[in-house]
Formats: sequence, structure tokens, C-alpha cells
Amino acid sequence: MKSDRTSSTLVLLSGGQDSATALAWALENHARVETIGFAYGQRHEVELEARLRVRKALADLEPAWAEKLGPDQLVDLSGYGALAQSALTAEMEIEWQAGGLPSTFVPGRNLVFLAIASALAYRRGLDCLVGGMCETDYSGYPDCRRETIDAAEQMISLGLDRAMKIETPLMYLTKGEIWALAHELGGGRLVDIIVEDTHTCYLGDRSHRHDWGYGCGICPACELRARGWQDWQDRS
Ligand code: ZN
Repeated sequence: MKSDRTSSTLVLLSGGQDSATALAWALENHARVETIGFAYGQRHEVELEARLRVRKALADLEPAWAEKLGPDQLVDLSGYGALAQSALTAEMEIEWQAGGLPSTFVPGRNLVFLAIASALAYRRGLDCLVGGMCETDYSGYPDCRRETIDAAEQMISLGLDRAMKIETPLMYLTKGEIWALAHELGGGRLVDIIVEDTHTCYLGDRSHRHDWGYGCGICPACELRARGWQDWQDRS
């Protein structure tokens, strides 16, 4: 995906592997980059701590990235989290539900995030949004599909009466290819940052360290991350 190197963007940064890679991509492809994150009652605050670690580590990695990186905004969406309760925000088992979606699905999450991010981008005069959504390995989350993002882009642009592109550089990459993209953008040092500083595990486990990072190693998020790491190792 090509971006205009004079443009500015707002990155949706959760603190996970995908959004950290999307942030590095944005820092490489845009002139000015700000970040936004959402506290919606995630069971584990570790994800929110990871956001700030990732920002600092990327700025320390590349002086050019440090110059481009602007402010961060954390938005309190605990009210939304309460009404959209899922296994990520409440003490529920992680399992498959009758409709075919896992209980970790938070209904409407990306739609809410994108609408709120667009309000900040509008106010800050930023040209577009960047998100780490990815449909290739998607866990059945319908709001991670490009088709949904295209509709959100149209809705936001109409509603703001201003074109607001939503860039999703990871959309068609496998988890293995996302590790490869990180390596391409920032070499082994960026891969190390993603291993050490990002957080993916649904259970919030930071006590077990694997080659691919920290996590319980058995929840669906850890499984996906571990499989992607292995896939990348096998091919490189
Ligand atoms: Zn886990």
C-alpha cells in the first residue's frame, strides 16, 4: 500500500503485535503520526501498559520515527465495554458461541473505535486513520474485514463531510507475514521490541516468556501468535 509521505495519520494502538507493527508502518510511510487507544474495561491492564512501552521503544529505535511521533490519546470507553460485555471484558470462558463467533468478540468494537478516532483526527487535522486489522487469520471477527472497513470509511467521510481514508496495511497478511513485515520495517531490533513489549495474550499472562513473546501459550491469541512466529521462522 502506498501512502503520501507528507501526510499525517492517527494510528489505533492497542499494544498488541498487529497495532505495534501498524504503528511502525505508519512511521515509515507518513510525515506525522499520532496515536489513540481505548480503555473499554479490558480484563487486563497489561495491554494499556504495553501501548506506552511500544511508543517509547519505536521512538528510541529510529530518530526519524521519534521526530514524526506526536501525542497519544487514551479514551475511556468503560461504559461501552460494560454494555458490549464479552470474554475480554468480563469473567467469562473463552469459547465458541452459537452464532459461530468466539466469546472474545466485542460487538461493534472497531466501529466504535473508528468513529471516535475519526473525531480526534478531524479535530487534530490528521488526514487518515491506520489500524492493524487483519482478515487473513481473523478469528471470525466481522468488524476486522476490509469490507466492513470500507463501509466505515464511507460512513465517516460522509458524516464528517471530509475524506477520511482508513489504511489497514496488515489486512491481507498472515501472522507469519506480519512478523516478516516488522523485520522489513525495523530489522531484528523491531522484532525484539514486538517480542518484548507488545501484549497479545487474552489472559494477560506476562509470567511466561516464549520465543514469540509473553503469554499463557494456550489461549487462542497466544496460539495464533505462536503459530505465526513458527511460520515466519520456517520461511526465513
Ligand atoms: Zn494466552
